[in-house]
Amino acid sequence: MKVIMLGTGAAFPDPDRAQSGILVKLENGAQYMFDCGAGTTHNMIRANSNPADVGVIFLTHLHHDHICDFPLFAITGWMWDRATAPIVLGPKGTKNFCDHLFEGGAFDSDFRARSNFPLRQNNLEAVRPDVREVSPGLAYEDENVRIFCDYVEHIPREISECFGVRLEAEGKVIAFSGDTAPCDNMIKLAENADVLFHECTFPESFIEFRSKSGVGTHAHTPPTDLGRIAAKAKVKSLVATHFGHFESTNQVIKNASKHHMPVDEMGPHVMDEVVRDIRRNYEGPLQMASDLLRIEV
Ligand SMILES: [Zn+2]
Ligand SMILES: [Zn+2]
Repeated sequence: MKVIMLGTGAAFPDPDRAQSGILVKLENGAQYMFDCGAGTTHNMIRANSNPADVGVIFLTHLHHDHICDFPLFAITGWMWDRATAPIVLGPKGTKNFCDHLFEGGAFDSDFRARSNFPLRQNNLEAVRPDVREVSPGLAYEDENVRIFCDYVEHIPREISECFGVRLEAEGKVIAFSGDTAPCDNMIKLAENADVLFHECTFPESFIEFRSKSGVGTHAHTPPTDLGRIAAKAKVKSLVATHFGHFESTNQVIKNASKHHMPVDEMGPHVMDEVVRDIRRNYEGPLQMASDLLRIEV
């Protein structure tokens, strides 16, 4: 299988990184997507993939940087002749989210305008997602893949369940953390994985700043812990992703960040610190993800 990083940023609009999203392409052409943050649909086109060809999409949690592009993903599939409903896997609340998007929802006018055309009436299923709210264990299975999930620790569960996932296909295993603080469930999901895609939102010092400033969540995985997780899970390789804009040189992001992170410490050099800290505990193959990075598994 091939994995394409559609988005490697976090909650801010960032000129250098789309929000969270990963595309898995199997040898037989079947495609599976994990998270659908802003910019991931555009990057899918750049990566020569058609949203209409993605059968299953898994939303790890309902933070905007993991779901913002779902309406665009679905409507594009509709315009581009997707024949069947996209299967949407996600936490409790996913059905509510999808039910309020198309018919009778936020994009109702678009739905009614576009569905006037006979061709668009042929595939209304494309904007009637087949939503399956999942629980820990085997979340989905078809002739190509098995997808397992378990709770990870990011948002209080009563607000939104957050899932980490493990995908088995073609005799290989990949795991994806979604967003999480270090947790044992993620180590179990990633056990002996060929590739672990794990969030690495902030360096230690930035997480400390956030825990004091009271802005946003600080339930993320510091690089030192990420190395420990990869080593404990005995993964064959590690891809760090979901970078929280700490390396940005963009002046708008920097100006807006003063309550979010120590602005004076931001910059591309911070990535060196992140790599150094992952390396304290993990010696195997390591890549720091960038948008459109392709990984052969
Ligand atoms: Zn996120
Ligand atoms: Zn999140």
